[in-house]
Amino acid sequence: MTPTPGYIAILGAGESGVGAAILAKKQGWEIFVSDFGKVKERFANELNELGVEWEQGKHSEDRILEAKLIVKSPGIPDTAPLILKAIAKGIPVISEIEFAGYYNTAKTICVTGSNGKTTTTLLLYHILKKGGLNVGLGGNVGDSFAKQVAEKDFDYYVLELSSFQLDGMYDFKVDIALLMNITPDHLDRYDNKMENYIASKFRITQNQTEDDWFIYNFDDPNISEIISKGDFKAKFAPFSLTEPQEVGGYINSNEQITININDQFTMSIHDLALKGKHNAQNSLASGIASRILEIRKESVRESLSDFVNVEHRLEFVAKVHGIEFINDSKATNVNSTWFALESMDKPTVWIVGGVDKGNDYSELYELVKDKVKAIVCLGKDNDKIKQAFGSITTEIYEASSAMEAVAYGYRLARKEETVLLSPACASFDLFENYEERGNEFKKAVRSL
Ligand code: ADP
Repeated sequence: MTPTPGYIAILGAGESGVGAAILAKKQGWEIFVSDFGKVKERFANELNELGVEWEQGKHSEDRILEAKLIVKSPGIPDTAPLILKAIAKGIPVISEIEFAGYYNTAKTICVTGSNGKTTTTLLLYHILKKGGLNVGLGGNVGDSFAKQVAEKDFDYYVLELSSFQLDGMYDFKVDIALLMNITPDHLDRYDNKMENYIASKFRITQNQTEDDWFIYNFDDPNISEIISKGDFKAKFAPFSLTEPQEVGGYINSNEQITININDQFTMSIHDLALKGKHNAQNSLASGIASRILEIRKESVRESLSDFVNVEHRLEFVAKVHGIEFINDSKATNVNSTWFALESMDKPTVWIVGGVDKGNDYSELYELVKDKVKAIVCLGKDNDKIKQAFGSITTEIYEASSAMEAVAYGYRLARKEETVLLSPACASFDLFENYEERGNEFKKAVRSL
């Protein structure tokens, strides 16, 4: 239920916090924004223009704990002392998406999963927009949902939702939910319990009714286990790489993606813009949602074939003296790197490493044996990687910059071979973020 406006505290003055402030102002709330770190200039300017009170470099507890409602940035864990105090006082703590949901009247199509969220969100947005819908894009990508609810008038939204955003969602209803996969990630925020992380992802279905749709990965054991036990109201539309689905999508024996929603849609996987098995899943899920929304088949087909992939995701950089360089800097966990290695069809020099989030590398052993000719570690502490793969290959080198890693790659790979950056780790030991890591890699390749 939408609360009547009162005093609201917004924690975190980034894209989502400032968006929440814009919407709260429009709806007549009295606002206090607090950020424990330093607020970026762009957001500070926006808050000043808005004329709301805000602070940085601290959280003034007395002011925050007076609030009727707290909107928390997804970056702040539920276990932060301030949040625990707010909850103990009975103040609802919600995410920006939940807050925006109070005022949103458009239909929502929401994408979550451990990997493939951004790719699928952007692909689906591309199909719906080209298909003629008045559709907005938000969540983890682009402008915040709250800001758009305040300022725009879309009929549909495609939203990318992380598990941290889902954790702060209670009444929000998703009209079409897409759950791409669930593999271990961010377990540090979930008491190191996989079941907690899985439950968080399933919150995407929590208020769905018989009129809504749930699109999910049929092949994912973590998902199918919950499906078999759970009580779901929404209509199911699963997708599978192998198993035919009466309602949903799959790849048939003629290598066509096949979608059974309304009537049947087929398209050769060779015509898809995005290559690799993981991307076939992303195309299937997006295709199913588009057909539920009755986008014309011709239009879906065209959009699935002309979509331009997002940077840093298995991105082809250049061919230098016959050696192909691929930037998959966004691969920050083992599962995404699994798919990257799986899609390699030439001997590969693999650049891996960074900040490990509790990785289990054994899942990669088979692929590394098959496809990897040498490993280049790109991180401050590479011991775990050296230990994990030391018995599989003796060809392990260490680099402390993208430039050095690329130089190793260039030296170790031959003509018709590949150098792949797919780190399976976060980037912040050596880089600001995964974008910087990918950009440095590309710069180094281009300067060869
Ligand atoms: P997210 O937004 O969930 O982090 P991205 O679309 O940014 O996902 O992709 C992150 C990484 O995962 C990239 O390395 C990409 O190649 C890989 N990836 C993309 N889609 C999938 C998928 N369906 N399953 C596994 N890995 C994927």
